[in-house]
Amino acid sequence: MATLQCPTCDVPFESDYSPAMPFCSDRCRHVDLGRWLNEEHGVTIECDPDAEHETAWMEEES
Ligand SMILES: [Zn+2]
Repeated sequence: MATLQCPTCDVPFESDYSPAMPFCSDRCRHVDLGRWLNEEHGVTIECDPDAEHETAWMEEES
């Protein structure tokens, strides 16, 4: 049995009792996943202006 620290809420927990390693709970896993997806989404919009251009082209084509 090992004691780990949840990356989301910083609470120590026993690894054997967690249903969502390496997080303390399924809730914390979803919180972390949501945060990661939001960051990824923001970076994509900021650093990829071609995506908007491509969408405009596709709309014009159809
Ligand atoms: Zn947690």
